[in-house]
Amino acid sequence: MEITALDKLSLTCAACGRGYGLDELAWRCADCGGVLDLTGFTPALPPLSVIGQRRPTLWRYAEALPIDEPADISLGEGMTPLVTAPEDPGVMLKVDYLMPSGSFKDRGAVLLATLARRLGVPRMVADSSGNAGTAVAAYAARAGIPCEVFVPAATSAGKVAQLRAYGAAVRQIPGSREDTADAAADAADQPGTFYASHVYHPFFLQGMKTYAFELWEQLGGRLPATLVLPVGNGTLVLGAYLGCRDLLDQGLIGRMPQIVAVQAAGCAPLAQAFRDGQAGPAEIVGEPTIAEGIAIARPARGAQILAAVRDSGGVIVTVTDDQVNAAHSALARAGLYVEPTAAACWAALQAGLIDTSLRPDAGPSAIAPLCGSGLKAKPPGVPAD
Ligand SMILES: [Zn+2]
Repeated sequence: MEITALDKLSLTCAACGRGYGLDELAWRCADCGGVLDLTGFTPALPPLSVIGQRRPTLWRYAEALPIDEPADISLGEGMTPLVTAPEDPGVMLKVDYLMPSGSFKDRGAVLLATLARRLGVPRMVADSSGNAGTAVAAYAARAGIPCEVFVPAATSAGKVAQLRAYGAAVRQIPGSREDTADAAADAADQPGTFYASHVYHPFFLQGMKTYAFELWEQLGGRLPATLVLPVGNGTLVLGAYLGCRDLLDQGLIGRMPQIVAVQAAGCAPLAQAFRDGQAGPAEIVGEPTIAEGIAIARPARGAQILAAVRDSGGVIVTVTDDQVNAAHSALARAGLYVEPTAAACWAALQAGLIDTSLRPDAGPSAIAPLCGSGLKAKPPGVPAD
């Protein structure tokens, strides 16, 4: 396999088109503040028969990833199990909490750490409501790069303990999730800093694509009619959408699955914008929710998320904390111990918001991820300390 030439890749502003080299460490457009997308890269997946002979990690899709596998950074991430949902034969659940750091964010974090080391940066900064931060901290530790992680002061004690165990410097920021993002942005602007942002850095989304690739491979070369995905900052919605686009562009699937994105009712700027037909996220004031991982009032890639869901023919729905609590309990009673946020998609399915009747050509009609381990968070109803 050829070594991917990083100098052929660039970052391009989605709003004004200005380009940046990867080594400039830009994390948003210096001219207009727009988000940056990856350009200069054409994925080309080999046949399933070839992929099937490779080791069970997300690097089995190497030809569709923008950087080569780092032998000493990978922790074996990817190829998580796909299991049937409790009492619903039309639905399958992707057990993404069985990742090295306990959440689906490892898919993107491993690419960021790999890039950071290829670029030789002296330090990384991340911000997160928890899972992205812990994933970045794990891979920064593995890559031997000092890492500072900004989290909201209310972040679960389990996640903070995990960050510290990895050796990250943890900055707990009072106020909202947006205050945390602002504090991280200030740190990210310091010279020589690699902002390992799951929201801004397009390499993160490239890693999240493997969620769609794995489903496609695990179902024998097809995808279900519906992908049910949680949405806060939209890393999985955008990653899965890009992955489906790769498969579609190569003729490996016949049609794009519809993306049904799920928000918490108390913090739903994308669901509201979708309902109102707006191109960008609605201006809202987020209320506290037990689904802390998707409580994002100002998603920076909101317009891209809305466009992706619309292009897929999907919809954005909301679930209440009571519904999330009930779904969390139902999953645990079926042996699946996830954090509350990770029950949001199952809550939408249980509430009957999504048609899951079996298709005539067999296979599941819908698939939802179980994103984060229950071991990270306090049980619903117990306030974080
Ligand atoms: Zn721009």
